[in-house]
Amino acid sequence: MATQICPACNKDSFTWTHDEDRTTPTTWGCECGYSAREDESFERVCVICNIKTESRLEDDDKIYWWCCSCNTTTLITRVPKWRFPTGDAIQELAAEFEYPFDINRQDWEYIVPTIDDIEKYFTKYATTNSEDIRFLLMIMMLETSNSGVDLKWIKNIWPRVMVLLKEDFQLHEYTMFYYCCWDNEDINDAFFVTPYIREFWGKQ
Ligand SMILES: [Zn+2]
Ligand SMILES: [Zn+2]
Repeated sequence: MATQICPACNKDSFTWTHDEDRTTPTTWGCECGYSAREDESFERVCVICNIKTESRLEDDDKIYWWCCSCNTTTLITRVPKWRFPTGDAIQELAAEFEYPFDINRQDWEYIVPTIDDIEKYFTKYATTNSEDIRFLLMIMMLETSNSGVDLKWIKNIWPRVMVLLKEDFQLHEYTMFYYCCWDNEDINDAFFVTPYIREFWGKQ
């Protein structure tokens, strides 16, 4: 199999594998130990080579375009460290806001938030010392943007949320990354807040 120039070590030993039924993404690997996953639904024309030679690769740190012809790479975004809400934080907020709580329930933070309680979320956010609670509350606040309140949300809520995101940028990095939907080229398939968060993220 033909080898390519490895984006990590620049040696001519970068090569790909994928399973027969293509249930897992194509994986690129090099003898230097570097590996990356390719999302084959994306391809673009390289501005240097002027042919469709750029693939979208993702490793543990970043998502980037890579041209297999001229070996140019273009960073799309860094991948922040994964963070998730803790069970304790969910339990505390479920009790405080009188929301249903089931320890086995996945996606609690995406299901229970309601725009009617948004002021309670802001108040709690401002008065807690717990990072876990603020982390969870931020997801809940952002989730309220999906409840059909559209441009009013952007006008009234988003500026207040942005202030909190700036203050606690590192704490919310993974959440912003999630709402940016970088694995989704078509912004219309993403969340309502996605274009606003992408713009905010780009400015930081
Ligand atoms: Zn290498
Ligand atoms: Zn190229």
